[in-house]
Amino acid sequence: MTASTGEIVVDLSALRHNLDVLTARVAPAHVMVVVKNDAYGHGLVDVARAAVDSGISWIGALDVPTALTLREAGITPPTRIFAWLLDPADDPGAAISASVDLGISTVDQLQSIAASPSSSTARVHLKIDTGLHRNGATPEDWPDLVSLARSLEDRGVVEIVGVWTHIAEADDHEDSLSIARFNEAVAVARDLGVEAPLRHLAASAAGFARADARFDLVRFGAFAYGLPPGDGPSAHSMGLRQVMTMRAPVSSIEVLPDGRRASIDLGFADGLSTLAPGRVGVALHGRRHPLVSPLEVDRAWIGLDDDADVAVGDLVTLWGDGSTGEQTLQEWGDATETMSEELVVRLSPRIPRRFV
Ligand SMILES: *Cc1c(COP(=O)(O)O)cnc(C)c1O
Repeated sequence: MTASTGEIVVDLSALRHNLDVLTARVAPAHVMVVVKNDAYGHGLVDVARAAVDSGISWIGALDVPTALTLREAGITPPTRIFAWLLDPADDPGAAISASVDLGISTVDQLQSIAASPSSSTARVHLKIDTGLHRNGATPEDWPDLVSLARSLEDRGVVEIVGVWTHIAEADDHEDSLSIARFNEAVAVARDLGVEAPLRHLAASAAGFARADARFDLVRFGAFAYGLPPGDGPSAHSMGLRQVMTMRAPVSSIEVLPDGRRASIDLGFADGLSTLAPGRVGVALHGRRHPLVSPLEVDRAWIGLDDDADVAVGDLVTLWGDGSTGEQTLQEWGDATETMSEELVVRLSPRIPRRFV
């Protein structure tokens, strides 16, 4: 397979713009920028550095290896890095020594922190399940988790930095129930001696829309990259800019009995969806042309009408912020029955990222 000639352009000024918009919107709550899945396919370290440069003090890493990668890349305290998907194979000592904030759901996780030989105090955020059932202590287990953390805090083993949860953000009424359950859990923790923890509950959708979901910190993933959910308001209408543009040069032009077609050297091995041909258009010289079947492993085809003036080497924009006639990732997601986030996290790491 030839090296892909496509490229992903990551506009860090658009990222900074989005972070400014989100920071202003949720203030006085703070913004955590979530960089899981290689910063939603945009490039982990470059995105995290740009976020820190623009004043962000919280990075959400998902797992401990990602958090340690960021520390090794020079993202040092006082920038906080939060990891909440803990693998029993992780070395808690390494995370604690690197001052990684840990999301904790179980008594077992606290005990493995207590058993680790690290001499530093572990920074922990205790997680309550408020209905999503994607880890987090149940309300029944919550007092035991909090009490153990409090006694470890008295011994200097942990510092209870935060209390948090994750909610569905698919239904306002469900979210309201989760917010009420979260407030109850915070009250229980306070009664057990956890005095002023950072409280965080919301990701992009609820954090953007609901003041009562913001608490002290909002964990923004999708919106930081200008990726709103499908079938809803566009990024533009929310004052956000899509950070990623994908481009590739025309690699050949063929004349067929029923018209011409142009190829680009990006296919399903690069992460393009086989549902895309016939459903999306790409931009060439500011005009929209359909992607047509077949989508090959390393090649896609673009239908050309008779008056299209196209030559090998001309740049095709698959998706971008829409300013040069291309579709946005939200439109691609809607057309191919998926979310824009899925389109970006599926992209092959082989495609070069260019940061501008
Ligand atoms: C992925 C994730 C987020 C960010 O979600 P978006 O909807 O992309 O903003 C926030 N919190 C947790 C726990 C997550 O896993």
